[in-house]
Amino acid sequence: MSYTTYQIIEAVWLLVAIVAFLWLMLKDPAPYGRHVRQGFGPQIDNRLGWVLMEAPVMVFLWLFYRLANSTPPAGFIALFMGLFMLHYLHRSFVFPMFMRTMGKKMPLAIVLSAVGFNLVNGFGLGYYFGIFASYEPKWLYDGRFIGGMLLFFAGMLLNIYSDYHLMNLRKPGETGYKIPAGGLFNYISCPNLLGELAEWAGYALMTWSLPALVFWLWSIANLVPRAKAHHQWYQSHFSNYPRSRKALLPGLW
Ligand code: NDP
Repeated sequence: MSYTTYQIIEAVWLLVAIVAFLWLMLKDPAPYGRHVRQGFGPQIDNRLGWVLMEAPVMVFLWLFYRLANSTPPAGFIALFMGLFMLHYLHRSFVFPMFMRTMGKKMPLAIVLSAVGFNLVNGFGLGYYFGIFASYEPKWLYDGRFIGGMLLFFAGMLLNIYSDYHLMNLRKPGETGYKIPAGGLFNYISCPNLLGELAEWAGYALMTWSLPALVFWLWSIANLVPRAKAHHQWYQSHFSNYPRSRKALLPGLW
């Protein structure tokens, strides 16, 4: 495939992200977690759903890389693929194990749509790293690489810390929701989503690549509407929810 064809595919994928963003912003939030509801077909166990929807992206990344390149990844490309895998190893196999989600379900349709989402992203990144990417040794000293790496790990820490803080609000066996507090939670409803957005911004910066940029924009399309929905959910379910708290950006929004 030529780079032009590849760019067209990524551009179309970006257009889909814009449509998804508008849909999620103006209509209802994706029906899982606190927004789960009937009307989306059969449902499966929530924990299993997380594993099934997130784990395939690692296979897709690898498969599309190998389709484009018969030699194992090395150097920066191995590093970038490894960091992506690191995020998804945690998201697929560690995060779901710590959820306090007794008896909760999610629609199979969400799992299938996430697998489709991951298929296209796995293609975008895997194929790019397999055939188009090339980094000189001096990239190690480039501000984009260093700044991106710092942002990636800062975002990852914020994301993981905040997810576990939320999950630990429940005692074992509990399934309800409480008002989170402490740290960034005093200023925004969704530090975990802010962390994830920072992480993928850092990834786009350090790889300086079209698919990572598109992946970050897709993350915005998913997570900004989700932060809005989470914030409104807290406000409508807790009369004592702190009025000064914003959704995603401290002091701003
Ligand atoms: P939430 O903040 O809604 O939930 C995170 C976990 O904490 C869930 O187990 C949830 O339980 C629990 N929880 C949340 N709030 C409370 C509370 N107030 N009291 C008690 N328990 C609580 O996150 P999301 O489900 O929206 O997302 C989960 C992760 O997936 C995040 O890290 C997010 O960044 C990532 N993600 C990434 C996307 C991307 O495009 N890159 C898209 C979507 C999510 P329960 O499940 O029962 O609600």
